[in-house]
Amino acid sequence: MSNSVLAVAAHADDEALGCGGSLAKHVAAGDKVHVIFVADGVTSRGGAGQDDLVRRQQATEKARQILGISTMTFLDLPDNRLDSLPRLDIVQPLETLIGKLQPEIIYTHHYGDLNVDHRLVHQAVMTACRPLPGSTVREILAFEVMSSTEWSSPGLAPFLPNFFVDISAQMEIKMQALQAYALEMRVPPHSRSAEHVRCLAKHHGYCVGVDAAEAFMAMRVLR
Ligand SMILES: [Zn+2]
Repeated sequence: MSNSVLAVAAHADDEALGCGGSLAKHVAAGDKVHVIFVADGVTSRGGAGQDDLVRRQQATEKARQILGISTMTFLDLPDNRLDSLPRLDIVQPLETLIGKLQPEIIYTHHYGDLNVDHRLVHQAVMTACRPLPGSTVREILAFEVMSSTEWSSPGLAPFLPNFFVDISAQMEIKMQALQAYALEMRVPPHSRSAEHVRCLAKHHGYCVGVDAAEAFMAMRVLR
């Protein structure tokens, strides 16, 4: 039976970093994968203009093709300023789209990230996916994003993975998707480097006895 799968990310590249391998694995299994980007990803950067936006859109489209994602939706809310919006402005469009896409499995951000957009997207997803009678959502999984999850304050919720996806067969697809986002990637020893992404997948994989894995915190699973 094929599933409808949805990733809700704050910014373009978060989906590839956080769950790119898992999304590619869903596609290989015949699932339909959708992605929603909540913020526009470039407006908070000084001097960012139309060129940056176009470059980011091209990168996102390339990553979409590499990962095999069916649809991408951009809510275009202000980057790094989601906390300036009424919470309903984030929740309502998500509720509408979730009602339309009817996903069984949802991937989204961890609630303890340094980036405020990530935290707010997490909260908005949890609100939009309240377990009301008739809800299609059976699993909500929170992913980590390098240079945000591990850079957060110790007082915020730590990322303690309890759900692993073996992406040994999808590792190179994930790396190709991240190559599409080369402008967002950095060189080692930066945390958001291709080398670190590989190390992390290896680490999570070895923790559960496989070559490479993506790790998640299960927020809610209904079987
Ligand atoms: Zn982000």
